[in-house]
Amino acid sequence: MLLPFLLLQASPLAVRPDTLRPVHDAVHYDVTLVLGDSGRHVVGQVETAWRLRSDRPIEVELDSTLRVVRVLVNGREGTRLARTVWGRRGDLVVIPHEGKAGDSLATRIRYHGEVRDGLVFRGVGAEGRTVFADNWPDRAHDWLPVQDHPSDKASVAFHVQVPLGYQVIANGELQKVDTLPYGHAVWHYRLAQPIPPYTMVVGVARFAVTRLPDAACAVRCVKQAIWAFPADSSFAASGPFRRVGEIVEFFSRLIGPFPYPALAHVESSTRFGGMENATAIFYNDSLYRARTLSEETVAHETAHQWFGDAVTEDDWHHLWLSEGFATYLAAMWVERTGGPAALAATMRRAAEAYFASREVERPILDPSARDLLSLLNDNNYQKGAWVLHQLRGLIGDSAFVSGLRAYYRAFRDSTALSSDLARVMSEAAGRDLDWYFRQWLTQPGHPVLEVTWRHAGRRLELDIRQTQKAEWGTYRIPGLELRVDGRPVRVDVEGRETRTVVDGVPRPPERVEVDPGEWWLIQKSVSGER
Ligand SMILES: [Zn+2]
Repeated sequence: MLLPFLLLQASPLAVRPDTLRPVHDAVHYDVTLVLGDSGRHVVGQVETAWRLRSDRPIEVELDSTLRVVRVLVNGREGTRLARTVWGRRGDLVVIPHEGKAGDSLATRIRYHGEVRDGLVFRGVGAEGRTVFADNWPDRAHDWLPVQDHPSDKASVAFHVQVPLGYQVIANGELQKVDTLPYGHAVWHYRLAQPIPPYTMVVGVARFAVTRLPDAACAVRCVKQAIWAFPADSSFAASGPFRRVGEIVEFFSRLIGPFPYPALAHVESSTRFGGMENATAIFYNDSLYRARTLSEETVAHETAHQWFGDAVTEDDWHHLWLSEGFATYLAAMWVERTGGPAALAATMRRAAEAYFASREVERPILDPSARDLLSLLNDNNYQKGAWVLHQLRGLIGDSAFVSGLRAYYRAFRDSTALSSDLARVMSEAAGRDLDWYFRQWLTQPGHPVLEVTWRHAGRRLELDIRQTQKAEWGTYRIPGLELRVDGRPVRVDVEGRETRTVVDGVPRPPERVEVDPGEWWLIQKSVSGER
């Protein structure tokens, strides 16, 4: 079975343009951090459990301004051969070892220094000071020694020492708080499931915590809480987070059990509107102060717990597997609460944003993209959501949902490429959808349809011309619905011109609609002659 494997590897849906590829597999990070009452100084120690893939040295990223003071390998300094000791190369800590592929190994890195980025420090003293991690895309290594790539997921435990008076949130569940004799406390968190480094976070502030009733217990109970600054706590609980129990329940029933034991919604100083850190979503505090944080944002970040966090893109360039999914699932929540018209309005807004963007000239899977922040674009969000919406229209609700579930089951706590989704969805639909994903992920643009009709006798001729620029290519649109005075006509659009003839039409039509259900990301115009 060599040939199919080779074909799969060669598929443009499996392309991996990222330049960084982790050398070894980090399995678990155990992080101890000491944060003070002011300043940006951090003292840290990270113990990492590794599974080696080769005898090559371990390479951990850590911002070069942070000083590494000690590195132990399996509890020892250096190796048996004293000449091999750790070293630094730019942002890398390079650690030689004597292990071989398949071996387990532990490293311990102790470091300290002023953090430049990745942790956002504000204010001074327990009344006003806040510290929040803000890692996306690869800023975790500005404060943590990690293999900073989404393909290398690991479980994580945090032990965060702060002065008394602060609360600490981090990934997973709070295990305990140790009070130390000199006015400090250590908060211990642990998450057993592997998550990408860009979602490994801590947050330190004085919070008002609102515990919510367990959600989604028909599927699997999720402990939820709202962590907000005291002045914003009642807005949060009565506004954007009012229905988080129902949101978690809706996605749990739709996709599968919530991937983690708990979920905290945290007011923070992330630079993003919301950041989907696993089990601890960070939302931008300015949206609380302006009272504009929306339920759709909450639904988007919550959906990321399934797609983005539990099922993670194996390469940054497949980011739509995270952002397109979160955007479409939030739209499905809007549909759940507002009905089909609300879904259509949401998708129309997404289409208009995409049509007006520069991204129309580039495919979703864009190997030429080098700046990771530039991937936060209308292709990966809006058009990505449309790739799912169209797929649902193409294969029907039940195949779509069973494909979604199968994809989650297969890649939960792991990583995936677009080729993996294409395969699972093809199986769910019972037909090959590779062409569909290639078309919408590797071609730029979208179909621009000019529909003209001509009526003569009792015949109606409909011509569908694809008038988008040549560089965008042509699109297959199976079963495109036209509606002639309310009567549905299905057309398999293929190539630059598709003609279809409807017989038994006594009069020239008053109204010809193209895709009235709004299932395709197309721009369209209709004209006719009688
Ligand atoms: Zn998102």
